[in-house]
Amino acid sequence: PPLLDDRVVVVTGGANGIGRGIAVCAARHGARAVVVADLTCDPAGGGATTVDLVAQAGAQGVFCATDVTDRPALDALMRVCAELGGADVVCVNAGIAVPGDGADISGEDFHRLVGVNLDGALATAQAAAAQMRTRGVGGAIVFTSSMGGLRGGAATVGYSTTKGGIGMMTASLAAALGPDGIRVNAVCPGIIETDLLRSSPALQPTVAPLVGRTPLRRMGAPDEVGEAVAWLASERAAFVTGVCLPVDGGLTAV
Ligand code: NAD
Repeated sequence: PPLLDDRVVVVTGGANGIGRGIAVCAARHGARAVVVADLTCDPAGGGATTVDLVAQAGAQGVFCATDVTDRPALDALMRVCAELGGADVVCVNAGIAVPGDGADISGEDFHRLVGVNLDGALATAQAAAAQMRTRGVGGAIVFTSSMGGLRGGAATVGYSTTKGGIGMMTASLAAALGPDGIRVNAVCPGIIETDLLRSSPALQPTVAPLVGRTPLRRMGAPDEVGEAVAWLASERAAFVTGVCLPVDGGLTAV
């Protein structure tokens, strides 16, 4: 059967970039419905485009306006999933970077990063786990961490700290939720061509050398992260939990 045959898949931050890649791959791999959760479905926000691409790939696309830092909004997201039969796969992908993220990052910027990348991620996973436990049929949670969660970076001090935290969130939730048949894994993308990279001038000077050091000598595409997520979320990875899988052209291996 297709990797995600008949599954209901949720993707936070699904309007753009890697989240869009995850959403469209899920649809291509047979998902029944893909719920795209992001800040706004304003056409300029990308959500409508993702929903169209999901439908073109053969799944029901549903947009749900969700700020992952807002717990009631996450509860509303899970109610939308319940109406679709319940979330089988939840991709905890929403994340931000901030400019000026060096050793002197301000406390305010650091807390903004923590608010979305850690608090928002935990709240999303908790909402997902609660629904999966209630349904009693297990499930899969897949975080989007980063190579910044595996290696430090002089221009990503706060960001890498939050993504390192996602590594331990993955391991610890895998331990806590495994007995309920809920697998928890993460992907750690390397340099992927998205707006997050394009809109962060502070990161630009670091991108070219990182691509130069990447064994495959190119940036990755959002779909290439989506493929790894689809596999981790699928029954083909039924005995895989608690892992952080680099999807980085080999960058963190060298
Ligand atoms: P992006 O900026 O293109 O997309 C991120 C999406 O998340 C946007 O649609 C945005 O609206 C949404 N979002 C932001 N805050 C949100 C919130 N509070 N609630 C709901 N949605 C919110 O970025 P991207 O590059 O696709 O990043 C996606 C994930 O991948 C992030 O977790 C990021 O840290 C991670 N990542 C990206 C790269 C890369 O090279 N682009 C590398 C490693 C990891």
